[in-house]
Amino acid sequence: MNDAPDDIRTRLGLRRIINASGTMTFLGASIVVPEAVAAVTAILTEFVEIDDLQRRASTVIARLCGAEAGFVTASCAAGISMTLAGAITGDDLAAIERLPDQPGPRNEVVIMAGHMVSYGAPVEQAIRLAGGRVVPVGQATAVRPHQLAGALNERTAAALYVVSHHTVQYGMLPLAEFAALCHRAGVPVIVDAASEYDLRGFLAAGADIVLYSSHKFLGGPTGGIVAGRKDLVRAAYLQNSGIGRGMKVGKEGMAGTIAALEAWETRDHAGIRAREDAALDLWANTLAGRPGVTAIREADPTNNPLDRLRVALAPEQAHITAWDFAARLASGDRPVIVRDHEIEHGYFYLDPCNLHPGEAEIVANRMAGELDSAQASNTIIATPFADRALRAAARRKTWPD
Ligand SMILES: *Cc1c(COP(=O)(O)O)cnc(C)c1O
Repeated sequence: MNDAPDDIRTRLGLRRIINASGTMTFLGASIVVPEAVAAVTAILTEFVEIDDLQRRASTVIARLCGAEAGFVTASCAAGISMTLAGAITGDDLAAIERLPDQPGPRNEVVIMAGHMVSYGAPVEQAIRLAGGRVVPVGQATAVRPHQLAGALNERTAAALYVVSHHTVQYGMLPLAEFAALCHRAGVPVIVDAASEYDLRGFLAAGADIVLYSSHKFLGGPTGGIVAGRKDLVRAAYLQNSGIGRGMKVGKEGMAGTIAALEAWETRDHAGIRAREDAALDLWANTLAGRPGVTAIREADPTNNPLDRLRVALAPEQAHITAWDFAARLASGDRPVIVRDHEIEHGYFYLDPCNLHPGEAEIVANRMAGELDSAQASNTIIATPFADRALRAAARRKTWPD
């Protein structure tokens, strides 16, 4: 079935995977929208004055996010480091060149303990890259206002707030309360909203800066969006002559991000939602009534307008564990990659937001085939879960072999 000579993946010797996982860096993020593809192609062969291109990006970002200004950087992670660096240095060009190891005394960055997550790399490291000193607030599952107030002082440069399914989803301070306390102490609030569809809500709720990924829900090329208060945006932008140099975005990232933002305004959001619904219905119907399989539709944990299907397996009846099922789906001619962050609990998710036409049907057929074959097995297919993590770590350490 690997007869797709026109598919660039075939030419590169890559597996033609189907992404039922969501927007993942390790799978190539998202399907870039045609408007952004066209903009990237058009600008790649031209020279531009980069400050002017970024000025144009600022106007578009400002309009869509309800911000004073903005710019495009290499990624949301780059946006975190550059924005915090800007909060530490202001527009002092000499101070910018002294980062990250000589940030001066006002370099503390407060972050709630339940927000200290990994998005593929630790968020604390993005703070330290900027010369910031990480000041965790509260405990992993409980943060109280007095703990935040007590952490803010004359050494505090900024407060970082993470909005993500990765964070602890209870016991944290809501953004509006968090921002009010920080503002009372004169501390700016930076919101990492990399994967959030809401372009205006976080600034409206009190953020001074909000950060997004271009390559996630927006369907842009790889990039990050910094939006918010003009003085903070400018101080972050100036880091391009400092720590931001190694986080450089090219003209194609800027033009593609502008195009993706403009396309977002006219996107057929209801039509996309309807296509996602159809995929979820197909998968739920495919799994209904199968022994040991429970499929439940769930809303996105951070209220993005996106549902996923939670697929739970009872190995005694299904004859296979969730992780062995996921591994089998990820093999073969049309590998299906599922969303497996919590798979040790015996379930995974199917995410419909990054499918090409026809792929939902392939996913359904692949699931039916693998479940039928597990049913026919005389033994329960159950590899120890711990082996899975060890194998994954071992694989990483032998790259590129
Ligand atoms: C994806 C993600 C990031 C990293 O974004 P990049 O643009 O890939 O650097 C940071 N924070 C959160 C919450 C994310 O989901």
